Amino acid sequence: MTALSVNVQITYTSYCVTNYLGKACTSTNSNKLSMTTQLPTCCTFLYRQTLSPHPQPPHRCPILLTPSFPSVHNPTMPSISVSLPLKPMSSLSSFLSSLSSLPHTVRDTEVPLLFREPYILSGYRPVGHSWSFYFLSLFQIHNETINVWSHLLAGVYVALRFSVFAVMCGGGLVGLTLNGPDGLGLYLDLGCLPLVYYVLSLLTYLCCSAAAHLLQSHSELAHYALFFLDYVGVAVYQYGCALALYFYSSDPAWRRSRVGEVFLPAAALLAWLSCACCCFAKLSYRHPYPLHRKLCQVVPTGLAYLLDISPVAHRLVSRTWGDDPAMTLHAIQVLLFLLAAFFFSCPMPERFFPGRCDIIGHGHQLFHFLLSLCTLTQQEAVFEDFLSRRASLMREYGECRFLVAAVSFPVLVFCSVLTAVVMRRLVERRLRKEDRWGKEVERGERVGEREIRCEEERRGREGKRGRRERYGDCKMNSYTF
Ligand SMILES: [Zn+2]
Repeated sequence: MTALSVNVQITYTSYCVTNYLGKACTSTNSNKLSMTTQLPTCCTFLYRQTLSPHPQPPHRCPILLTPSFPSVHNPTMPSISVSLPLKPMSSLSSFLSSLSSLPHTVRDTEVPLLFREPYILSGYRPVGHSWSFYFLSLFQIHNETINVWSHLLAGVYVALRFSVFAVMCGGGLVGLTLNGPDGLGLYLDLGCLPLVYYVLSLLTYLCCSAAAHLLQSHSELAHYALFFLDYVGVAVYQYGCALALYFYSSDPAWRRSRVGEVFLPAAALLAWLSCACCCFAKLSYRHPYPLHRKLCQVVPTGLAYLLDISPVAHRLVSRTWGDDPAMTLHAIQVLLFLLAAFFFSCPMPERFFPGRCDIIGHGHQLFHFLLSLCTLTQQEAVFEDFLSRRASLMREYGECRFLVAAVSFPVLVFCSVLTAVVMRRLVERRLRKEDRWGKEVERGERVGEREIRCEEERRGREGKRGRRERYGDCKMNSYTF
């Protein structure tokens, strides 16, 4: 590509022009920007056209360049004014300028301990900004970007795929049809209800997780509250899966077993328990996280998964796979989940390369990515099972069992949300107490405690008191919330 060096006076937002020019801007505070840059071929072409005595109309460049030289700034350099169509781009330009004015990411030492992740040394968003900053950070590169987008895109795919499936294969949206079996009235197919709950549970956990990772840096209270919401999403997902696998993917022999008989109430209980334990672990343990914090999260969640997957596991070991297309999909989803669980439990590979996997490649991102793939594969498998068994569902289970499922799902959601709300209140009370304590120290009412605390932190020891977590680097007023 040939290029020409010119002094460009840009009278519109920087981004549109820099997109064409392929060069980053240095200032976006106003709508005017001066810079010297290398114009690409299309602009050079136009520039030469305007110099010629018989200029041809522009064909190749969508922006209009008007040369007026010599420039007042530099008589040796021609000056070109660039004007762009204003109206269609105005909202986009204000959006892009607000994006470019976002604060830069910071290192781990610049955020309170609560927000730090083991072996992740940079790419943190500063704490204590407005909500809009964290919403806009969706389009910024930081150490949560992939965590957010992986679940957000998976959520969009799940919703679209279900819409297509419901319309094309499900015989009407969410089992609701205008004509019943007798050809009259509004008719709700109860057999579709577990499928609808299942898809809702997928969307719930994906959206809660994306929201938690996107907004958690707002404040300590927001961090706790959003991750409690994330755990609610996990519980809802677990029970949604349990319902779908029980009604669509289980064999009659497994349903007659002891596990099959207690499956649904046990799955609901374990789902709620995993939500409660994850919230409790989040509330109780602080940096540096002890092993039992992870155990407190992983054990109930793992037990819930073992139970929820038992109808599929039974089917995988007791049947031949050849005549059933859903079997391969189930095998893949189990494999993907086990891999995801590994990366959730172990901070790999960042443990071996601290600081090198901050933006891309750390274990939690791999966990998100694998879990998203697992979800999409599982959804396909459940759709296959639903189609193959739909005709016999009512005969096999009876209406009563579907009604129990219809009631139990909202009850589980309610209990999980209630648990998260109670935990949030506990956090709020604790933070208020710590604030009071901090102010007393600063006023000197607790003589000597500040010095003791700084000395402890200098030695790298973390005390049990929450106050130390909030002011991890001895700068008493570093973080205000
Ligand atoms: Zn996550």
